[in-house]
Amino acid sequence: MLASYGLTAAIKLASNESPFPPLPQVEQAITDHLSGLNRYPDGAARVLRAALADRHGTDPGRIAVGNGSCEIIQHSGEALLDPGTTVVHAHPSFAMYPHLAAAAGADGVAVPLAPDGGHDLDAMAAAVDERTRLVIICNPNNPTGVYRSADDIERFLGLVPDDLAVLVDEAYYDFVQNPDRGRVAVLARTRPNLLVTRTFSKAYGLCGLRVGYAVGCEEWVAALDAVRQPFNTNHLAQVAAIEGLRHPAAIQKRVDEAISERERVSDSLTDMHVPFTRSQGNFILMEPPGSHVDAAALHEDLLRRGVIVRNGAALGCAGSLRVTIGAPSENDAFLAALAAAVGTFASAE
Ligand code: PMP
Repeated sequence: MLASYGLTAAIKLASNESPFPPLPQVEQAITDHLSGLNRYPDGAARVLRAALADRHGTDPGRIAVGNGSCEIIQHSGEALLDPGTTVVHAHPSFAMYPHLAAAAGADGVAVPLAPDGGHDLDAMAAAVDERTRLVIICNPNNPTGVYRSADDIERFLGLVPDDLAVLVDEAYYDFVQNPDRGRVAVLARTRPNLLVTRTFSKAYGLCGLRVGYAVGCEEWVAALDAVRQPFNTNHLAQVAAIEGLRHPAAIQKRVDEAISERERVSDSLTDMHVPFTRSQGNFILMEPPGSHVDAAALHEDLLRRGVIVRNGAALGCAGSLRVTIGAPSENDAFLAALAAAVGTFASAE
């Protein structure tokens, strides 16, 4: 694809990946375990589950591990949904949620976001009826980056039945700056119907290996174990995640850099009069400045300049673009390309 634009390399800011490679200690651990790949992995991921249970101050029976957190979300649909039931989620939100209903022959109920780009939790509670088996809350929401507080989530839990499964997808948890960050996972240690999913794909820079996890309701975790493949999380993924958990300070340093870059890019967008939504993730949803600039044309123009961002049309946000926060030099290149592209559109007026 790059060649058709006359490019040999491009800056990839379209998939909310980390600009950092895995930590050196994690790379070493992966290398050290290559020669054991003639053996199946530990199907129960016991060491990783124990490390995560320790991290969350809970029992390993409340931890699920998967081939990315996507798999845990998908398996939740398999375990909980049947034809005639419903899954309630927000729109626009993470693109895989509607697949859960499609795969199970269930009905997806997509509840529009509130005007601030966050979940409309009252409308979602109102969308729950006797057919609803699962509610998914993406927090912060992808693609808007808007965060709902733990108090908001707790209030929502009070509005729905105690036996209705509520999954809070915290894929971007690491990048949240609100002081209540992490409290929903604490609630998941005791609530009967709550599961919180997290991932090693973003802050730990391991999306290519596929490893995510969930903490919460024990029966739900058991149901996930019942539907998953026996060896769903590969050996290197387990090794890498275990090693990554041993270096919280190094991970936090990377997260801090991503957050400070997110704020720097946000400030630059403000200076450029580019409308955008304040994000608590490692990405920003923005709109072209001025009605004369078309989002699809701007997406294409950035591509020609060697910067790949996500066209909002693919995310249910036609008219917007989502840009991932990259390394400082990548963000500089994005901002320069954006300034040049916007300048071109302005001069073409
Ligand atoms: N949830 C959300 C909201 C995401 O954006 C993503 C990845 N883009 C995931 C879950 C899945 O992450 P993974 O399967 O890599 O853990």
